[in-house]
Amino acid sequence: MTARAGIVVTGTEVLTGRVADANGPWLAEDLRSRGVDVGRIVVVGDRPDDLVAALRSLADHDLVLTSGGLGPTADDLTAQVVADLRGRPTRLDVDLEERVSAIATGIARQRGWDGDSDAFTAGIRKQAMVPEGAGVLEPVGTAPGLVVPANEDGPVVVVLPGPPRELQPMWTDAVDHPLVREALSGAEELRQSTVRLWGPPEAELAALLRDHEETHPGALDDLEVTTCLRDGELEVVVRHSPAAQERTDALVAALTDRFGDAVFSPAGERVDDLVAEALIAAGATVATAESCTAGLVAGRLADRPGSSAYLRGGVVAYANDVKTDHVGVPAETIERVGAVSEEVAVALAEGVRERYDATYGIGVTGVAGPGGGTPEKPVGLVHVAVAGPDGVHPRRLQLGGDRDHVRRRTVVSVLHLLREVLAR
Ligand code: ATP
Ligand code: MG
Repeated sequence: MTARAGIVVTGTEVLTGRVADANGPWLAEDLRSRGVDVGRIVVVGDRPDDLVAALRSLADHDLVLTSGGLGPTADDLTAQVVADLRGRPTRLDVDLEERVSAIATGIARQRGWDGDSDAFTAGIRKQAMVPEGAGVLEPVGTAPGLVVPANEDGPVVVVLPGPPRELQPMWTDAVDHPLVREALSGAEELRQSTVRLWGPPEAELAALLRDHEETHPGALDDLEVTTCLRDGELEVVVRHSPAAQERTDALVAALTDRFGDAVFSPAGERVDDLVAEALIAAGATVATAESCTAGLVAGRLADRPGSSAYLRGGVVAYANDVKTDHVGVPAETIERVGAVSEEVAVALAEGVRERYDATYGIGVTGVAGPGGGTPEKPVGLVHVAVAGPDGVHPRRLQLGGDRDHVRRRTVVSVLHLLREVLAR
């Protein structure tokens, strides 16, 4: 059994969903890459009793990490709670107080405030209180972190600040702290392979896993296989020790055998990267004309750094006269077959391809809902098209879910259509 760590994420804003937890998943993946198994991520609000209960529930782990509650205000109480639980009285670290003060005063001045009130000084003093025997992790923002030694109640606790841009570099430093090294000394390599499919339903995948196990008894031993449907992509993640690498490779081969080209990503690549790499390799460019997605496809194409190498631009062609005046969709076509139609998706793709002088043009038109549906053109009906040097490729989608879901699924579907066209 490899080393195990538990994570306690604190903050009422995270518990109530006002802020989505970025720290638990990030720390879990970082620990996984270091061979540390994460058994649990516990989220608690800013209440000392709940924090104590969460820390106690992880007493049988090798290491516990906490996120948040290191600020200068009264609701920031993680350091004190951890110190109490590990039976370590806190003392003022005068040098640390000076360093925190210098940082906090600098930030206050930048905001045009002189930073010289009693409350301000008290806040800094609070952040410089260090439990006896604990290691100090230098502040990245204003709050220092802590490495608090184990006692009979539980393991070493690494206390980290809440803001992700502070937590991440601080944890990377904390890994080298002697107490953390010792706690994680039992870590063994834990590998992870990701395969993504586009097309097959989840049930087909479950059937393949059953068949594979039946025809090759023991084939899934020591493999932790999780499947998850994400924006229409089926993601298979296999976690395993180095000793199970061959079984993992055999499973990936079985997936490719059964599903062929539907396995678009045998090594975990994202569709965005595959599209970008194919465009760059072909020296090709792309432009978009989007109605119901109103720029989401262009935005997604621009998410990647260096996207100017292939993204020419896009038109948010929401109104019919914009489709006609800015992309050249014949008004007569819209009149005859309606804005949500294969003809209009094709005209958008061809029009923007020509007007923006791109190798590929993308057209999108659909009924995102919740209103605007008719029996012939229900909510969730979307026509997309990719126009390229070898002609135009339309596709009709009928998507479920709410407006947000329809628009998100449309974006992923268009990326896959473009990927398929580029692979021809
Ligand atoms: P501060 O000095 O900023 O108060 P802190 O260590 O006390 O730091 P928190 O008060 O818990 O941290 O959180 C500060 C801010 O950091 C939150 O308002 C939130 O924007 C962000 N944050 C905290 N925890 C998380 C988390 N788990 N995921 C994403 N963002 C978070
Ligand atoms: Mg705070």
